[in-house]
Amino acid sequence: MKRFWKSINQFLVFFLLVAFVITCCTMLFVTTLSATSHIELTAENLNLAAKVTFANVVLLSFIFYIFDAVRRKLTVERPVNRILEAAEKIMKGDFSVRIQKQSKFATDDKFNEIIDCFNKLAEELASVETLRTDFIANVSHEMKTPLAVMQNYGTLLQTPNLSEEKRIEYAKGVTDGAHRMANMMTNILKLNRLENQQIYPQTREYDLSEQLCECLLQYENVWEKSNIAIDTDIADNVMITADTELLSLVWNNLFSNAFKFTEPGGTVSVTLTATAHHAIITVSDTGCGISPEVGRHIFDKFYQGDTSHSVQGNGLGLALVKRVIDIMHGEIGVESTVGKGTTFTVRIRRN
Ligand code: ADP
Repeated sequence: MKRFWKSINQFLVFFLLVAFVITCCTMLFVTTLSATSHIELTAENLNLAAKVTFANVVLLSFIFYIFDAVRRKLTVERPVNRILEAAEKIMKGDFSVRIQKQSKFATDDKFNEIIDCFNKLAEELASVETLRTDFIANVSHEMKTPLAVMQNYGTLLQTPNLSEEKRIEYAKGVTDGAHRMANMMTNILKLNRLENQQIYPQTREYDLSEQLCECLLQYENVWEKSNIAIDTDIADNVMITADTELLSLVWNNLFSNAFKFTEPGGTVSVTLTATAHHAIITVSDTGCGISPEVGRHIFDKFYQGDTSHSVQGNGLGLALVKRVIDIMHGEIGVESTVGKGTTFTVRIRRN
């Protein structure tokens, strides 16, 4: 009913305006015509002319009104209603909604632009929502394992009359679990800060060759224990201007993966070459390799291709590496053959 009165109201405004203007114009025209052509204008003639003009105007403005109403219904109201319906669905949490574009003849191009923007917005929201739910699921899943281990060891520690050896073993189990959780939390926080651009690279000029050697030496215990051979070809005194802390995060993750995925007796190789503007670093191993399917996801958060080694990681290492390299506008690539080994190649600008 409200709509009906609104339509009547619109029509009256439209009609009165048009009727007034046209009647005035016609009367002016008729008066001028009679003045110039000496046609006698009686009151009766004028009255009739005004009535006919008025009737014509009523008819014409009604036709225009109907035409305009249909045009507005099809080209404005219909797309606006579709957008409103879709927005309501999104408000209720259904991010799968998409609006179909209108045909070019049926609506203004601007509406199609709005529809395009709306669809992109819905897509973005859907992917953010997926990331959020995946993230929560992944974090909870990753926390469950060390928590269960710690709970187990905690219960065992309560056994009366424990031998000193067992007490130390169980206590170590609890500490390892706590260490793993702390490690994961640190990585999540780092990744979060990198993604939200809360970390501003603190660049300074330093010797990359030295940094690579120092990082590699931290794994001396690991390679000696696992009987892994080390092969290095690191160019001397390669100076770069970068954030030392961020880059050491990259080397540490690549080295720890190389040692983790290489069986005893294998080899891990590190090379550094430099051009005038770039430094190229490769980290290779003779480990289990990465299949093409796994390779497509290794830089995704929480992705772990090889679950047999999962106890030593949480799938965040390479996601962090990629983020750091992206921030530095560098490149990272991987080549791998299953059963033979993997090579990660990092290319970064020297300044
Ligand atoms: P994590 O090492 O904690 O599992 P990462 O993000 O460091 O997580 O690595 C993701 C996945 O990439 C690993 O689970 C593994 O499947 C694969 N990967 C990474 N580096 C290597 C490597 N050197 N050799 C074989 N697979 C690797």
